[in-house]
Amino acid sequence: MHSQGTLYTISAPSGAGKTSLVAKLLAQTPRLGVSVSHTTRAMRPGEQDGVNYHFVSHADFQSMLDKAAFLEHAQVFDNFYGTSQQWVESQLATGEDVILEIDWQGAQQVRRLMPDTVAIFIMPPSKEALNERLTGRGQDGSDVIQRRMDAAVAEMSHYIESDYLVINDDFDTALADLEAIVRSRRLTLASQELRHRVLLSALLS
Ligand code: 5GP
Repeated sequence: MHSQGTLYTISAPSGAGKTSLVAKLLAQTPRLGVSVSHTTRAMRPGEQDGVNYHFVSHADFQSMLDKAAFLEHAQVFDNFYGTSQQWVESQLATGEDVILEIDWQGAQQVRRLMPDTVAIFIMPPSKEALNERLTGRGQDGSDVIQRRMDAAVAEMSHYIESDYLVINDDFDTALADLEAIVRSRRLTLASQELRHRVLLSALLS
């Protein structure tokens, strides 16, 4: 696939604050978008269809799979999640950078397909903080929280597959770290040459 924009995967254990960080990063960064995944999981209070996820039935998800509509997909807990290939490709082609908030399984698939993908991993500052954040949501029972804690440790074991590691101890610092990553990628010669083709040729003529 030929693309102009940079594709980022951002992975983290549940409770590391990934979604809030990405939302703030998007709000203050031009030319950066996030892919809205398709999922078979039930909507949580406060979530909106088409905003947090495209909430679909198992049958609809399967039919998208059959049509090879997903760039990547994975099963997380009992639910299925997938990234629309068409949306990602069209965004990148316009020069927009795209973030995929996906788990390690998806990040692996994307990296295999698109080796230029920049993989970022976000970690909580401690296990206690992670536990607190998982419990703090107050939406799930203790067995669910334990399951999430185990899954968090499993997810974190894949941090080694990333290019960048951000520790979300202080929100603003973690946000500045993410900004720095995006900014520095945009300053690479390859990105700048694409963006400033006209200027560069005028300067050198
Ligand atoms: P949650 O159900 O709590 O929103 O997300 C559970 C996990 O699924 C998180 O690790 C999240 O990053 C991951 N996830 C969300 N969308 C996708 C997706 O499209 N593909 C993959 N592989 N993982 C996803």
